[in-house]
Amino acid sequence: MDHFEYRDGELFAEDLKLSEIAEKVGTPFYCYSTATLERHFKVFSGAFDGVQSLVCYAVKANSNLAVIKTLAKLGAGADVVSEGELRRALEAGIPAEKIVFSGVGKQPHEMAFALEAGIHQFNVESEPEVRVLSDVAARLGKIAYIAFRVNPDVDAKTHAKISTGKAENKFGVPWQDVSRIYREAAELPGIEIKGVDVHIGSQLTDLEPFGNAFDRVRELVMKLRLEGHDITRVDLGGGLGIPYDGNIPPGPESYATVALNSLGNLGCQLIFEPGRLIVGNAGLLVSKVIYVKQGAERKFVILDAAMNDLIRPAMYEGYHQIDTILEPDGGAELEAVDVVGPVCETGDTFARERDLPPVEPDDLVAFRSAGAYGAVMASTYNTRPLVPEVLVSGDQYAVIRERPSLEALLDLDKMPPWLEEK
Ligand SMILES: *Cc1c(COP(=O)(O)O)cnc(C)c1O
Repeated sequence: MDHFEYRDGELFAEDLKLSEIAEKVGTPFYCYSTATLERHFKVFSGAFDGVQSLVCYAVKANSNLAVIKTLAKLGAGADVVSEGELRRALEAGIPAEKIVFSGVGKQPHEMAFALEAGIHQFNVESEPEVRVLSDVAARLGKIAYIAFRVNPDVDAKTHAKISTGKAENKFGVPWQDVSRIYREAAELPGIEIKGVDVHIGSQLTDLEPFGNAFDRVRELVMKLRLEGHDITRVDLGGGLGIPYDGNIPPGPESYATVALNSLGNLGCQLIFEPGRLIVGNAGLLVSKVIYVKQGAERKFVILDAAMNDLIRPAMYEGYHQIDTILEPDGGAELEAVDVVGPVCETGDTFARERDLPPVEPDDLVAFRSAGAYGAVMASTYNTRPLVPEVLVSGDQYAVIRERPSLEALLDLDKMPPWLEEK
């Protein structure tokens, strides 16, 4: 469910015409809907009503401060993977005690910053990491509350690049070493073991891998308790998929049933880290047609957006529904076209042989479900400035990140003294 709908023949974001925003802001731009963000967060957190739980929005999916603040106001916590994201979460008003810090490569200065802030938990991914964390915490006279991210060796049945819970993946500590790692960590100064953490992948459209991973976590919690650890939290990660292509994955309620079946009666705080599910369908990328070109074998629709603005199709074979901003007439004949950007890479292809209604230069189109892993993964490849982000709320909108000027972009480069003009 989202709040982007055709009304009077045009695509709206809540109560605003996207064409009007495009006129003021220019294209391409990302557009997010407050009502959709709020709805998704409430549906997810509502599925755990009455359960001792903490929903930590995975900031990496969309880290704009206004997006985080919209969720912070609903009581969201945050899952962060860098000091930068931690600073964003704090600045957007998420209290430190609702923040968990994930990631395989945390550095001492990042740990120190997080310890000073007083975060809820570090999700530790290796033995070397826990030793460094112990040193940093002891030096600062702080206690780091930790869960180890365990690798349950389950197949998430999603795209290989976003699958994280197999033994071959870089994430988490190996299942067979967990007992020893917990035993040794319990002896370290500055470390207090709180729980177990697992995150098996992203865009999961089947609940079975979750169920398998959660059952393994349950066994592990019981085992660790027998071994003398006071396990009071389990962090189940994120990963629940969203509809991109019309197939509807299981919703938060069924996901909650699976989680609670496995882990509901352990007396643990349940932590969740949804990212895509909260922001994915709350965002569009709006773009303009530059040319329509008839190639030798295919027709190409060339847009002003490119792979540097939205990399999911190039990187993960991600599918995005593409809609024209003007509602196509019911009788319009669809034509299979390749939708591409201006970047000099064949990979700069958003869709191949996609059935679209006829389009012409200057027509606007919208990529659906672009709120997650869209703007955050953008680059300036081909010296294309990052695209602006706009947040809509009812009949208001605001630019929540401006389009940088080309001057600002060029100004980042510096001449070495030997190349300066004399
Ligand atoms: C990426 C990530 C998430 C969020 O995943 P989604 O698929 O966006 O829900 C949660 N936890 C960790 C550790 C992650 O790396």
